[in-house]
Amino acid sequence: MPWVKSPPRHPSLNPIANDCATTLMAAVSVPLTLTTDTRSPLVAARQNLLDLDLQGCEALVTELGHKPFHGRNLFKWIHKHGVTDFGAMTDLSLKLRSQLQEVAEIRTPHLVEDWPSADGTRKWVLELADGQRVESVYIPVLIPQERRHTLCVSSQVGCALDCAFCATARQGFNRNLTSGEIIGQIWHATRWLGESPSNIVMMGMGEPLANFDNLVKALAIMQDDLAYMVAKQRLTVSTSGIVPNIHRLAEVSAVSLAVSLHAPNDALRDELVPINRKYPLETLIPACRAYIGDNPRRRVTWEYVMLDGINDSLTHARQLIRLLEGTRSKVNLIPFNPFPGSDFRTSSPERIEAFRDRLIRSGLFTTTRKTRGDEIAAACGQLVGRVRDRAGRAPVRAGWPQPVVAA
Ligand code: SAH
Repeated sequence: MPWVKSPPRHPSLNPIANDCATTLMAAVSVPLTLTTDTRSPLVAARQNLLDLDLQGCEALVTELGHKPFHGRNLFKWIHKHGVTDFGAMTDLSLKLRSQLQEVAEIRTPHLVEDWPSADGTRKWVLELADGQRVESVYIPVLIPQERRHTLCVSSQVGCALDCAFCATARQGFNRNLTSGEIIGQIWHATRWLGESPSNIVMMGMGEPLANFDNLVKALAIMQDDLAYMVAKQRLTVSTSGIVPNIHRLAEVSAVSLAVSLHAPNDALRDELVPINRKYPLETLIPACRAYIGDNPRRRVTWEYVMLDGINDSLTHARQLIRLLEGTRSKVNLIPFNPFPGSDFRTSSPERIEAFRDRLIRSGLFTTTRKTRGDEIAAACGQLVGRVRDRAGRAPVRAGWPQPVVAA
């Protein structure tokens, strides 16, 4: 049974565990096989069921000697009903429940900070099993009588891509999230909201397409009717432009695609979004075109951060129009969200308006993103979590506001 034998996840990335192990080995002479975990080997390697999609749950219960439909029920208990205690899963047999108790667990992320904001936006800081922290942001849609909301979800602990204007980049990179840790953010938000988020955007910490397999698995669970039922059009993956994985995503999924463009030419984009040096615009644009294919209802959303005096002139606007010619597009202008230690300034409202008007006149559908939750550092590019950076970059926590409610 693979889920029983699999080793604990990321043991080498847990500095605390490693420190403890080193101290223990130095203090006493012990066999190398000594483990500080006194639980049985089965229990020590429990499978986190949040990592399993529907087929995974069915396979698990089948291996345990039960009919696959019990796997469907198990999957529903976890995601639809939010139940984490096997004892409460009353339509599963007592035998299956006790087997699950032995080999599996439902390990949800632990909420450590809850930051409400005046505009209804809410930032949650979630602690993972190894002590790393990631952030997700809940953004209500401000239309009276309409209960719609977007959840902005993280895909990695930190980010390795080093975009010049992004706070997450300053934090450095530690590791990919497991699919269970990605789904854990949605699990938590669903419990808090009392329903699934209506829209999910993979626009939190990290580069989703650099964590491809876990992302794809999590996207399937988000869409599953027995779980969160989020329609593919309401699921957006935002990427800085990992071109080969845009092609791969097209093969397995039809979720909406947003691309962090931020510059209309390679020279500038090389500086602002360094992954452009590897995958320049002449490869990025065709990959995005191929992604939406010839379905007239699909288009690419281009995110474009407005940086004063850097990328916001009318010449840049004209270059952008030329670049996007022939691609069904929506341009989303994002006023730069400052963070402590950042050198950029946001473009003035007049400059943003002039830029937007120029794009609209050319026929490009263009919106300006309203900044939400910036007083709680929950706006685009302000998410930092608590990352133990493996490249040793300095944290940018100092100078941020403090949480209103700390759990
Ligand atoms: N790595 C993915 C997901 C991050 S999404 C990506 O690059 O698309 C977060 C969005 O906010 C991206 O478009 C990112 O470029 C943008 N962003 C980052 N820092 C920002 C800042 N300080 N102000 C405004 N937008 C920012």
